[in-house]
Amino acid sequence: MPRIALFPGSFDPVTVGHVDIVKRSAPLFEKIVIGVGINSTKQTMFSLEQRIKWLQETFADLPKVEVHSYEGLTVDFCKKCNAQYILRGLRTSTDFQFEKAIAQMNQLLQNEIETVFILSSPQYSPVSSTIVRDIIRHGGDVKQFLPSTVIPKL
Ligand code: ADP
Repeated sequence: MPRIALFPGSFDPVTVGHVDIVKRSAPLFEKIVIGVGINSTKQTMFSLEQRIKWLQETFADLPKVEVHSYEGLTVDFCKKCNAQYILRGLRTSTDFQFEKAIAQMNQLLQNEIETVFILSSPQYSPVSSTIVRDIIRHGGDVKQFLPSTVIPKL
């Protein structure tokens, strides 16, 4: 059975940290589905279409990566794409505390789906979409935090 991982997130926008996680975990799986979660209660800076387009352009050279959006529970979307694994990145102990609860709740919901954590590379651990958005809002230069495919215009 091919090993399929779902990498869920908001990707608002995709950063070099996300790219690092996908590239480093690519050898572990036959397919990685990047799932852009649609959360109606969460206001995003970039439209769903824009975030998907950037992800597709960023991973255009990795044929095993697919990009989709989804609504609803992550474990339900895993079933839809036949993913046996959920992929998440860990930067800090705060990420770990948060991710641990979600992974364990997901396991209670669907015990055959395993969450796999990849530690961020040291140079990328301070990079977050939230801080990137803040820098953009204040007119700063975010080039070094984003893949070259992403040029944010507001
Ligand atoms: P969410 O809204 O679900 O947190 P994000 O798009 O912010 O979605 O993040 C998606 C995943 O990528 C999460 O597992 C997050 O921890 C991970 N991630 C984000 N930035 C980095 C980074 N710099 N290094 C490693 N993992 C990261």
